[in-house]
Amino acid sequence: MERKENRQLDEHRQKQMLLIDQLQEKTILTADELKELLVERDQIVIEYLCKKASTICERHYGRKIYARALIEFTNYCRNDCLYCGIRSSNKKIERYRLSDQEIFDCVNEGYQLGFRTYVLQGGEDAYYTKRKIGMIVKKIKENCPDCAVTLSFGEWDRAVYEYWYECGADRYLLRHETADKMHYQTLHPCKMSFDHRRRCLSILKEIGYQTGAGCMIGSPGQTPDLLVKDLLYMKEFQPHMAGIGPFIPQKDTPFASEPSGTVAMTLKMLAIVRLLLPKILLPSTTALATVHPMGRDYGIFAGANVLMPNLTPQRVRGKYILYDNKISTGAESAQKIAFLKEKLNAVGYELCMERGDSLMQEKIQ
Ligand code: SAH
Repeated sequence: MERKENRQLDEHRQKQMLLIDQLQEKTILTADELKELLVERDQIVIEYLCKKASTICERHYGRKIYARALIEFTNYCRNDCLYCGIRSSNKKIERYRLSDQEIFDCVNEGYQLGFRTYVLQGGEDAYYTKRKIGMIVKKIKENCPDCAVTLSFGEWDRAVYEYWYECGADRYLLRHETADKMHYQTLHPCKMSFDHRRRCLSILKEIGYQTGAGCMIGSPGQTPDLLVKDLLYMKEFQPHMAGIGPFIPQKDTPFASEPSGTVAMTLKMLAIVRLLLPKILLPSTTALATVHPMGRDYGIFAGANVLMPNLTPQRVRGKYILYDNKISTGAESAQKIAFLKEKLNAVGYELCMERGDSLMQEKIQ
């Protein structure tokens, strides 16, 4: 009896490992195969998947982990995403905006610390007009021409995206959140549109931005079938970057009592994305490091190669509450970069402070 079970387990492992080996080269992926990997529970197979992903990453990017300094410049938001702590109907959080000067001071501090990429992230806050953001981007690029500027500021018109690109913005992060329209509608108020978000992503890529898509893992109502859709969408869209992290509840949102996404599912998604898009830039997210003390390292072991230390000024750092218990004071703080470097060295990786452009880039700038 036991023998038979062992044989079955061996056969299962072999089949799954073969699938993992083929994943990269495959042009046509079946949804069933992807789902089988996502629901895999056997630790040996999961470790094999992660190892394969980190090896592929190393082949393209070496054992370098790219650093991006994150500046969360406003927590005002006109949107009301059900999962997000800075949603407009959350009256419990204290709102803040950084002044232009505060943003420039952050960048200067980041430059001294060695950062050469700045990610300006915020809620969709119309206080920062097209011109205002354009001016901020221009000034950063004038002062630090060797730096890349990434915007992560939600959905705007083509003309606005084009303007910011002309002002010098290099990259744009706009997670697609979920590739299933019905699911999208359960996570967002009816005013928000799945099709519009998708269109924004296509426009950003057309304009020439290094474009980041991505999704939360374990958001309420998500099933393995929906995650398969996320994988197939990303394979088709070919983003330069993908932000993939666990959903974590925030106590003042409608999803307050929903469970967080799991580490295991997040790692499987990271690893499969790395295999499907070998040259993608893939952060090991703060959300992953928040749900598990080893989350940051685990993400890297599953093929992630970007970290985004927090450079938001101390006066407001605790206020960008997308989800509860978000960490920002340890190795995830930009100021503690030496500590982070040490931590990475200890597991055989090197923090890389260069711009770290995507190798997938079609347009040479
Ligand atoms: N306004 C910008 C930035 C949004 S915040 C935009 O629309 O892109 C950045 C990301 O945080 C979101 O894309 C979302 O995927 C993630 N996020 C928001 N709430 C979260 C939560 N409760 N748990 C985990 N991630 C969350």
